[in-house]
Amino acid sequence: MNIYSGKIVLCEKFITELRTQDPARYILLKNIIHLATDCLNVSGSFISVLNENLQHRIAVHNIPFHTYSLQEYLPRFITEQSDTFYITDISHDARFSDYLKTPGEPEIRFFACTPLRTSDGVIFGTLGVCDIHPRRFSQREIKVIEQISYLVMEFFQAWNARDFIDNSSGIPNSQALVADLQILGVKTNDSELRLVIIECINIHKIFEIARTVGMLQAQALLREVCTLFRLRLSLSFGERLYTIAPGCYAVLSNEEDKNLDAASVLSRLQDIRLKIEHNIYADLIPCAGETCFNPSVIPAYEGIRRGVSALHEAISSGSSLQIFNEETDARRNTEFQLMNELAAALHGAPGLYMVYQPKFCLKTGTLTGLEALIRWCHPVRGDVSPDTFLPAITRTHLHSELADWVINDVTVQLVKWQAAGCAVPVSINLSESDITRDGFAKKFYEGIILSGLTPQLFEIECLETEKIIENEYAVTALTMLRERGVRIALDDFGSGYNNVNYLRRMPFDIIKLDRELISDIVTDRRSQIIVTNTINMLKSLEYTVIAEGVEDLGTAKILSEAGCDIAQGYYYSRPLPAGEITKILYAKFIL
Ligand code: C2E
Ligand code: CA
Ligand code: CA
Repeated sequence: MNIYSGKIVLCEKFITELRTQDPARYILLKNIIHLATDCLNVSGSFISVLNENLQHRIAVHNIPFHTYSLQEYLPRFITEQSDTFYITDISHDARFSDYLKTPGEPEIRFFACTPLRTSDGVIFGTLGVCDIHPRRFSQREIKVIEQISYLVMEFFQAWNARDFIDNSSGIPNSQALVADLQILGVKTNDSELRLVIIECINIHKIFEIARTVGMLQAQALLREVCTLFRLRLSLSFGERLYTIAPGCYAVLSNEEDKNLDAASVLSRLQDIRLKIEHNIYADLIPCAGETCFNPSVIPAYEGIRRGVSALHEAISSGSSLQIFNEETDARRNTEFQLMNELAAALHGAPGLYMVYQPKFCLKTGTLTGLEALIRWCHPVRGDVSPDTFLPAITRTHLHSELADWVINDVTVQLVKWQAAGCAVPVSINLSESDITRDGFAKKFYEGIILSGLTPQLFEIECLETEKIIENEYAVTALTMLRERGVRIALDDFGSGYNNVNYLRRMPFDIIKLDRELISDIVTDRRSQIIVTNTINMLKSLEYTVIAEGVEDLGTAKILSEAGCDIAQGYYYSRPLPAGEITKILYAKFIL
């Protein structure tokens, strides 16, 4: 079944709108039919629109005209005419003689009618004229009624476009999509729709073009994209295209229609290069999200949200296509909610706090420093691990806000410990985006000095080392801090793929072996050989070597024998709240 199974369904939205009261529209239409009455020299005229069951008069001049049920013969006959027709004398026509008779009113004898059509060719109403005398209708008069119907149509389309047509592309907008889905939700019982949302050109690119060659050219480009899109899709009746944002479109079709699934839509949009100006081109890199749903079960806004969710997933995962997936969607929504709550926590709401994990010297067994680790006690979810919320804020402004929050909190804590005479060096985890921020090193250093602390009390554990080494600013910032006494550590060494070549160039004092690397050195000989040789190499390069994630005495002993300097892990202590650190200050771990 075609989703737009009847011509009437397609323009239902239009008709629903037309049935709403609008005095300005009514006056204009009334004037038009007045004109029709005068030009054609008839007794009266009317404009009516139809939906599935009824014919509604929108404007009437000088005739008693009722809302007829479409089951009745005359209105049905009128709507089924595709051309202008007229009846010279109704009283001689058995099909109609019972209609158009109103008690107390003169009998209508002559009747002429011309259909009102949308630009898609769908008949949605009628312009009619009547006379109380039988009469003929000349070719000239047929032309006049058709010209007036054209005026009515143009007016309707312009009026409708106010709300439902996107100005720049000239195709239906997201409001039209919502309205269509709502109507289809009422009409279709168990048939599924397919909604594909396609980003052809992203908003950054549009602004880049507007900035380089001007807003007008950018708009012209968007129109061109839309035209091309329509051509390449070559939609059939019942398949609809909408502009839902600049450069972003939606295609609505029946679920059974595999021709318009996201993969086929994308395949038709390959290799499009548009010329903007001499030597300036825009390549379309389309990306799509798809969802199928029953509009009578899933509300319009939810259906569209699912399509957008799938598109967003495709964009953020760097793939060209994603099908809506409830689990991923729920996860992303939770993340989004968490991000808002994290922002609130960073701006003062309770929940965030630091814990400190002690590090011990393997030779002497004494405390050498602490690693500051962030904790978030969520009001509803309880403890949320940094491994859950940190990846979600990577590359967002929250990430730098979090770094500032951590640096500030650790600094305040160190001031307290210093005042109590028990300050020990604390390491802070920072990633490339924190270190490359404008003026980061200067601000970090000034913060230390202003709070009366010494740079030797601070250590930076660099996460994402590969990115740091590629970034000249990061290397300069770290070198500057190191020269002033802040110690710099390379975190997570040996996790994933690490190119040891960068050890030659980076300003590190400390290398921190990742937990993964050392986790089974007690039971796996090959791991032990790798770790021993790695420590050997790092010591020859004169680094301080720390092992993290040490969970048992056996591991600590092997590391110590291999020449590792410092160990940190549950064997020694779990990360502790600041208030509990004094308990461990004088602890000693003899191997
Ligand atoms: P990381 O820097 O490698 O930190 C070590 C992680 O291992 C910590 O997890 C710590 O609690 C855990 N750990 C310590 N000892 C052991 C052990 O013996 N066994 C096991 N299984 N785990 C141990 P946590 O605190 O959940 O942090 C996870 C990651 O989150 C950290 O990995 C770090 O990359 C990041 N992170 C934590 N706090 C911060 C922060 O304040 N800022 C930034 N940018 N990242 C942070
Ligand atoms: Ca770390
Ligand atoms: Ca690690």
